[in-house]
Amino acid sequence: MSELKKYTFDGSSKLKLASLPTNSKKDGVDKEKILEKTMKNQEKIAELQERLYADGTEGLIILLQAMDAAGKDSTIKHVLSGVNPQGIDVFSFKTPSADESAHDFLWRVHRSVPARGKISLFNRSYYEDVLVVRVHKLNRGYHMSDRVIGQKDKDFFEKRFKHICGFEDYLYENSYRFVKIFLNVSEEKQKERFLERIDKPDKNWKFSSNDLKERELWPKYQKAYEDAINHTATPENPWYVLPADQKWYTRYLVSEAILKALEEIDPQYPEISDEERERLKESRIILAGSAEPEEKEEKEKKEKKEEK
Ligand code: AMP
Ligand code: MG
Repeated sequence: MSELKKYTFDGSSKLKLASLPTNSKKDGVDKEKILEKTMKNQEKIAELQERLYADGTEGLIILLQAMDAAGKDSTIKHVLSGVNPQGIDVFSFKTPSADESAHDFLWRVHRSVPARGKISLFNRSYYEDVLVVRVHKLNRGYHMSDRVIGQKDKDFFEKRFKHICGFEDYLYENSYRFVKIFLNVSEEKQKERFLERIDKPDKNWKFSSNDLKERELWPKYQKAYEDAINHTATPENPWYVLPADQKWYTRYLVSEAILKALEEIDPQYPEISDEERERLKESRIILAGSAEPEEKEEKEKKEKKEEK
């Protein structure tokens, strides 16, 4: 059984973040074997992405949420390194611009939904609108009518959860799938990685003193994440809450989650019609003089492949 299962939340059980591991210890896995499996998964993902594109019947949205220094960026870089860049777009959702703030919170997201056949990777997402916004009570300062921002925070966010579920369900029914990932890093590991960012000159740019202010709000964020995940985990669009203290293990689990979605989509190369097959034959005759590859041709092809 894949290790992924125990980190999957589909709404049938309640998530208690504090009881979930942030490292691989409990899973008792062998690092070498995991590295090997990750490499194989990367290859399979690249293969299936080609098929997804050729097939074009489903679109895939991978979204990553996490506290700072949980490894979002490096995970993206590694797990999807084999994928054809033409089939994937990465979107980083930052503090909304003035134009974005003047619209509904899903406006900027909807514009980043991929065409079917493609993958969009969301580095942070509309979940920030029930996380950072909730923790900092930013909703109270929104330029919106009183009937919206005048209501209790609890009601305001309950409605947002409902809208998020509706949005994800809407896309699911429009032939899209989600892979929703929370990288679950420990407070201790975040400290270690922050110190590395401070101590290593080539990592300084990744650190801002504001990151420390957010770190102080750790318990509030944990609570907000727990609540958001519990309200939005469904069988169709589950959450993966993955241990993030060891990058090699996180990458493996992320690759498993993406692979699972692609395997469920099971994309196929399009079948060609008899007419098109005939045309291929005709083209072959023009190019090589025969309708079928001859033995000699096959042998040469094989030899060429081996040379590579
Ligand atoms: P980073 O990913 O470290 O570059 O930081 C992006 C920042 O944008 C994070 O601090 C997020 O919390 C913040 N952010 C993203 N979406 C929103 C949002 N809807 N409202 C407020 N802040 C946001
Ligand atoms: Mg940051």
